[in-house]
Amino acid sequence: MEVKINQTEKRSWIEVDLDQLKTNYLTYKSILPEDTKIMAVIKADAYGHGDIHTARWLSSLGCQLFAVSNIDEAVGLREAGIEGEILILGYTSPKHARIIYCQNLTQTLVSAEHAKALADTGYRIKCQMAIDTGMNRIGLRTDNILQCCNTIRSFTKNLDLNGIFTHLCVADDRSPESIRFTELQIKKFRNIANELEDLKLPFIHCFNSAGGLFYIGNEPYGSLIKSIVRLGIVLYGCIPDISDTLPSNIKPVLTWKSTISMVKDVPKGESIGYGRTYITTRSSRIATVTTGYADGLNRLLSNKGFVMLNGEKAPIVGRICMDQTLIDVTDIEGVKMGDNVIILGNSGSLSHYADDMAKELGTIGYEILCDISKRVQRCYKTQGLLYTL
Ligand SMILES: *Cc1c(COP(=O)(O)O)cnc(C)c1O
Repeated sequence: MEVKINQTEKRSWIEVDLDQLKTNYLTYKSILPEDTKIMAVIKADAYGHGDIHTARWLSSLGCQLFAVSNIDEAVGLREAGIEGEILILGYTSPKHARIIYCQNLTQTLVSAEHAKALADTGYRIKCQMAIDTGMNRIGLRTDNILQCCNTIRSFTKNLDLNGIFTHLCVADDRSPESIRFTELQIKKFRNIANELEDLKLPFIHCFNSAGGLFYIGNEPYGSLIKSIVRLGIVLYGCIPDISDTLPSNIKPVLTWKSTISMVKDVPKGESIGYGRTYITTRSSRIATVTTGYADGLNRLLSNKGFVMLNGEKAPIVGRICMDQTLIDVTDIEGVKMGDNVIILGNSGSLSHYADDMAKELGTIGYEILCDISKRVQRCYKTQGLLYTL
């Protein structure tokens, strides 16, 4: 049930701009060869954006392939009525084979041992074999192509093998060394795909967001493996690596907002918050914001980060608390109880996105998005209407 909401009554929430999500999806699709499909990667609650609503919206745009990290995410999507392929990218215990089978999910085979254990359950589940071309995380090694392919063939007897895939580990880095490594990964994968061509596997894929951007137009990667891109971070408008640039239409879809609960005058020389780490250097106006580290606002931004308010920056002063954060609004006119602040997004001519915050913290935008916690309500916006599930 979708309900219209009044944003000023809320504490800490995100607004997902579905129209921008659509633009990102269609823009990315437009740079791919015509017959290349997108598998939307919606693991980790769609990188914090809310997986069910993201999947529904993408389904309405024609996307029929989805990838998640684990069986709980997959079952949640099925129960919400999401159809099409749902690929579980990570390990699932063979004990859950029945659920995989009954929910028509597709399981990644992380190793030969995993495949055998799943086959032994007697459920002919849909599955895809992970191929390790250099990441050394999951998958079959490719040192001996024939042996690797024979192993894969042996699984087709008791399992409904519908694909193979590999994962690129430096596709987002444009240094000659990384380009060489990525090309080698693609070559190893293509050799396996060619050797298994007679199996007519419908799903053969190796590109993540960065791979699709930087490698797919280039021959000679082979048409076999160009057919699907597993699109994650770029769908949400963030960059795989800070050195990357995105097509200009692709922008962040998420805005994180919160509310000011009180504003007060604090004389010069007083301390603010836990640990007394900030001392006012002038007569100050300090506002309290109803978001803290339990909402996913990283505590390392204490005395360092800022939020946006009326197109201006309000610095975070003192330590970020579990549920609240203090900001200095001395230089911003007319701030009052109930005003909204923007933690991620834009305000006037200012913008501050997950990638920017990531840079301040020495991490990646992915982590900033995934850290936004469950109690931050997910809201969705299309054509000016804001609603929640
Ligand atoms: C997370 C993940 C992706 C998506 O990566 P992005 O960089 O977000 O596009 C693709 N494939 C696999 C196997 C993944 O685990």
